[in-house]
Amino acid sequence: MLSVALFAQDSQLGYTDTPLIPGQNWKVHDSSRPHPAKIAARPVLSAPPADADVLFDGKDLSKWRMKSRSGETAPANWKVQDGYVEIVSPKGMRWNLITQAAYGDCQLHLEWLIPASETGKGQAGGNSGVELMSRYEIQVLESHENKTYADGQAASLYGQWPPMVNASSPKGQWNSYDIFFEAPRFDGEKLVKPGYVSVVHNGVLVHHRREILGPAAHRRNAPYKAHAAEEPLSLQDHGHPVRYRNIWIRRL
Ligand code: MG
Repeated sequence: MLSVALFAQDSQLGYTDTPLIPGQNWKVHDSSRPHPAKIAARPVLSAPPADADVLFDGKDLSKWRMKSRSGETAPANWKVQDGYVEIVSPKGMRWNLITQAAYGDCQLHLEWLIPASETGKGQAGGNSGVELMSRYEIQVLESHENKTYADGQAASLYGQWPPMVNASSPKGQWNSYDIFFEAPRFDGEKLVKPGYVSVVHNGVLVHHRREILGPAAHRRNAPYKAHAAEEPLSLQDHGHPVRYRNIWIRRL
């Protein structure tokens, strides 16, 4: 139990015993990596354009199913009310929400909110995530006041790149993400072009065609592993109540 307690405490502010991130002078979740400046910004609450695939319009989860960490799938039963969906998995049972359809290069809009009742610290402060192709994570976390390692705060490319600025809304208020994604390309098992992502958080550019270094991973660098040209989008269930609404996507 002691090691669990130490781990939980340590993980709030980062690590010193992790490997260097390839091409960077920082370790994975480096506790000494500077945090981006906090700025005030407002969410962009945009209606879907006519050619978008509306993944969630506030009413139902027919475009989604759930997937457990062990790969089981089930009908999506997250709570839908007042135009949003909230993660409701019982404690310890983590089921991501994943799209029925698969996507590669895309433009994605969604809005997310950490409930005002959230009291968790560090990575337990309303953790979720937008997992492009179910593996490249743009972090969702309470980062208006809650501190964690820079490459794990809201809008970070988890474990790889902090956002250029911290545009987070306070708890109880909506955030928007507009994400522009170029999927990695593989020739058989070989990576021939990495993925790239641009992220606009609350109207502010926080990643500009950032190179994705591989799948999101905790405390390590995960190498690319070949996968299909299109894979489902997933929203991470990290065991904390986080709300999403107005989710739409356009294939590029
Ligand atoms: Mg997360």
